Amino acid sequence: MRKRLRLGIMGGTFDPIHYGHLVTADEALVQFNLDRVLFMPTGEPARKTHRQVTSAEHRYLMTVIATASHPDFAVSRLEVDRPGVTYTVDTMLELRSIHGPDAELFFITGADAVLDILTWKDSHRLADVCTLIAATRPGHDLAEFSRHAAEAGLAVEVMEVPALAISSTDIRERMASRRPVRYLLPEAVATYAEKNALYRGGL
Ligand code: NAP
Repeated sequence: MRKRLRLGIMGGTFDPIHYGHLVTADEALVQFNLDRVLFMPTGEPARKTHRQVTSAEHRYLMTVIATASHPDFAVSRLEVDRPGVTYTVDTMLELRSIHGPDAELFFITGADAVLDILTWKDSHRLADVCTLIAATRPGHDLAEFSRHAAEAGLAVEVMEVPALAISSTDIRERMASRRPVRYLLPEAVATYAEKNALYRGGL
């Protein structure tokens, strides 16, 4: 009998991608016995109007650079190439049609983003298509989180990842003020950002 594909989809803006994201994906691979993790940088974000997000092409390329050396990581252009606002449910339905009804899909993202789920387009349909995995740093209020998920009638797996103390916002601030980022993200990603002057002008 053919083994069912267990595919993790790591959704995020990745502006920029950092070790917290990479550790989260690696941890999910093991904890959920996944065959591979597909990083899915957002195209035009559904939310986030409060700041200018770096172009999808730069964020995609930084994600490729960061994941290149891991044998079970890959990067998708699905959302980057989709015109207009991106909804996770559309992405999952597209992946479902690519991989067939037997594939098991796991959507992994930050807990704060999952909390937003109530307001997402077709969140219940999303939960029907995939397992939701919320990644959080230790100390996050998990009881509160579970209450919100239960109220929404959604089953969410939670994963605590200490490396998520690293944040893209902090990295952008550090790069803008020329403070060190060496141990927060892959050196090649930092060099790419520097070379393209991505975070020099502040946030
Ligand atoms: P965000 O609001 O920028 O991030 C919220 C928090 O989660 C931040 O602390 C962020 O840290 C963290 N985070 C984001 N992605 C993560 C990941 N893959 N692993 C671990 N932590 C992560 O969230 P976002 O990046 O815009 O959205 C996350 C995902 O949810 C994307 O795939 C997006 O398409 C999806 N989403 C969909 C809808 C919709 O369908 N309507 C609406 C909202 C979000 P960093 O800043 O350090 O990454």
